[in-house]
Amino acid sequence: MPTYQLQRGTYDAYDDDALNLDKLQEILKATVSLYGFNPIITPIYEQTELFTRSVGESSDIVNKEMFSFVDKGGRNISLRPELTAGVMRAIVTNKLYATRDLPLKYYYCGPAFRYERPQQGRYRQFTQFGVERVGVTSPLDDAETIIMGYSSLLMIGFPRVTLKINTLGDEKTRDNYRAALKEYFAPHIASMCEDCKRRFETNPLRILDCKDPQDREIIAKAPSMSEYLSDEEKAYFKVITDALERFDIPYELDTTLVRGLDYYSHVVFEYHYTSDDGTNLGAIGAGGHYDNLVSEVGGPMLSSVGFALGLERLNSLLKEIKQEEYEKPFLDCFLIYQGEECQTVAFDLAMMLRFNGFKCDLLYQNKNYGAQLKVATRKMTSFAIFVGEDEVKNHRFNIKNLETQEQEAVAYDDLVAYLDEHLEVHHHD
Ligand code: ATP
Ligand code: MG
Repeated sequence: MPTYQLQRGTYDAYDDDALNLDKLQEILKATVSLYGFNPIITPIYEQTELFTRSVGESSDIVNKEMFSFVDKGGRNISLRPELTAGVMRAIVTNKLYATRDLPLKYYYCGPAFRYERPQQGRYRQFTQFGVERVGVTSPLDDAETIIMGYSSLLMIGFPRVTLKINTLGDEKTRDNYRAALKEYFAPHIASMCEDCKRRFETNPLRILDCKDPQDREIIAKAPSMSEYLSDEEKAYFKVITDALERFDIPYELDTTLVRGLDYYSHVVFEYHYTSDDGTNLGAIGAGGHYDNLVSEVGGPMLSSVGFALGLERLNSLLKEIKQEEYEKPFLDCFLIYQGEECQTVAFDLAMMLRFNGFKCDLLYQNKNYGAQLKVATRKMTSFAIFVGEDEVKNHRFNIKNLETQEQEAVAYDDLVAYLDEHLEVHHHD
């Protein structure tokens, strides 16, 4: 028999990890729906050109990280490296910008694929949860989106989050700034990394994103974006930072923050978490404002703002932060019986309990009471319900609290009320 290995850069999630990845999505969806965001679901693959045009030729994602192939019909296809491009394409394909109230407010959640060197917090298939607000008309749209992302992270349990923020101005400002950067880097570029040499030609702004420590020293002395911003652009940005201050959201102005994608303008931001021992897995989420993306994929000019969070990074950090609260598999009740006649009653009883919203399980393996009880305990069950011949005859069941070991007889008609009352803690989580 051949054995099959997990593909490099991918992972299997099970037990608590799978439960928690699920739970994270639930909390994030609930939080953004408070702000009027609704789901949008798009395919995991699109024509390659959608990504090269929207994410940008000069980005690392398009340059080095795409999973691309030619399908049997000869089409150039790529697995999505992020979800924004597909959402923009869907908005244009379905003319949502013309038939719905603006701004459009969508959230998405699903796998993204990047051919990266695997390391902690970096996979080749990972999950992004994100939002897009399309048709923004005020810096308050940006402010609200940034605050929403921040509070989502607090909702899922981060004790604190660092928000790094910067403004990139509009296209003209960026062109002027790029020219200034080019002039500044020209005498240094020969000594800088290969990526920077490429960025110098394709998009010198991107050099600011370099993580090489030697290059960072050169970058630290580069001219600052802020010298190139117009008064209007500064005023726009101030509305955003003022809102952050009203809500006591600590932010760090980082003038070298440019983000990895080509399409951003005005505000860009990243959420970071540094653990008590100083570990920082890199951004746990990031986003920004973009003006050209909808038109770039064939729609009208509409400004937008959005962010994306990486669920795996959130999950692995949360696991350390709130170990005790980390979701564990559990059952409300386990039915324990012997013999064929009781089996049918147990089967029906389990169905009834599930229809009433209880997490319920039982075995069909002909095991004795003790063995079934052991399974119930291993599966973190709150109550064992015994379905014996006497119980079936009398329509009363012995219920054992597996934590306290206390046992009580409860009539069939009172079962649901009894469990409701005694499981209150679980169900009101
Ligand atoms: P980084 O600088 O860490 O490479 P990025 O700028 O490429 O991040 P984005 O494109 O902004 O990341 O994606 C949004 C979020 O998705 C990131 O903040 C991160 O949490 C997550 N993410 C990005 N790439 C990966 C990956 N390869 N594996 C797991 N999560 C990822
Ligand atoms: Mg990256």
